[in-house]
Amino acid sequence: VTTTSDMIRAVVTQRPGDSTLMEWTTAPVPVAGPRDCVVEVEACGVCMHDVIVRQGWRKMVSVEFPVILGHEVIGHVVEVGDEVRDFRVGDRVVTVQRESVCGECRDCRSGRESSCRRQVFLGDVGLNGGYADRVRIHAGSLVKVSEDVPLETAVAACVFGTNLNALRDVAKLTVGETVLFTGAGGGVAIHGVQLAARMGARVIGATSSPAKKDAILAAGADEVIVTQRGEDFSAAVLEATGGSGVDVVVENVGAATFPFAQKTAARHGRIVLIGEVAPKLIEFDLLNFRDRDLTLLSALSTNRNQLEDVVRMCERGLLEPIIARRLPMSEAARAHEYMESADPAGRMLLVRQD
Ligand SMILES: [Zn+2]
Ligand SMILES: [Zn+2]
Repeated sequence: VTTTSDMIRAVVTQRPGDSTLMEWTTAPVPVAGPRDCVVEVEACGVCMHDVIVRQGWRKMVSVEFPVILGHEVIGHVVEVGDEVRDFRVGDRVVTVQRESVCGECRDCRSGRESSCRRQVFLGDVGLNGGYADRVRIHAGSLVKVSEDVPLETAVAACVFGTNLNALRDVAKLTVGETVLFTGAGGGVAIHGVQLAARMGARVIGATSSPAKKDAILAAGADEVIVTQRGEDFSAAVLEATGGSGVDVVVENVGAATFPFAQKTAARHGRIVLIGEVAPKLIEFDLLNFRDRDLTLLSALSTNRNQLEDVVRMCERGLLEPIIARRLPMSEAARAHEYMESADPAGRMLLVRQD
């Protein structure tokens, strides 16, 4: 692909469908509006969100094709709008998933900008996303990051920010408590294991993938319980906790594991949902739930404050993104195929093309 001064290289997806529709081609150069920065992309994470958008079966309301996917960007600011106060050309930054939020609504003003009704999700709408040489983004959706952190820090918002939201801000996890992650080898969950261990919790991982056991332990789990897919793991979790159960369950899988996960919660335990992407119904034992005074919660992605906090932890070497595979940007379709077929332990990263 060759470019001219008014074009960038990008992976453009013309319409929903399989990964062969993702074409390495050119797109117009993004131009900063008054409150935007343009970022030259060093690397962009590949998120299940991107795969779902590309497949076209979810989020059609907020998606506009043709689209450049990708919202997990690390790069350098190359252009700054007239009204931007906090960034200068040359700053290294990571993105917080959204191209923009309004900053004015009740959700934005209460730290819940991931619920902003006027938000534009980066990489959901039109030819402006992270699978490209450059991307335009509202300055309010950027966090500065040190030149010393690795490219992998691109994925910090989704993998660490979401878990910080779930563990610290939603579940109110405290030092010394016990946390269970279901689907613990998944791309987001394995980073939750790492963060929870850093937060001083005892961490138990449940997985149906024996091949991921070592990776989950390496991420910081104290114990890993391996069961068959669809098998009840609650007895093993209760045994590991002397019968008392876990204080916090981070439910990454959803309907398939929730009935078992609920049984592992200690009295007064908190269950946080962060995984489910498919509409499914489950049976729910209300009496048992109330008898044990459980709380059911949900963590909706992440906000900029949470991203700032985890980026600072990355800079101190306390958190380290786990990357299954790096590919050049032009091979984004291969990354999607790998996500759909191989279920990697860790994230996929697309790196700027030479
Ligand atoms: Zn993501
Ligand atoms: Zn808003």
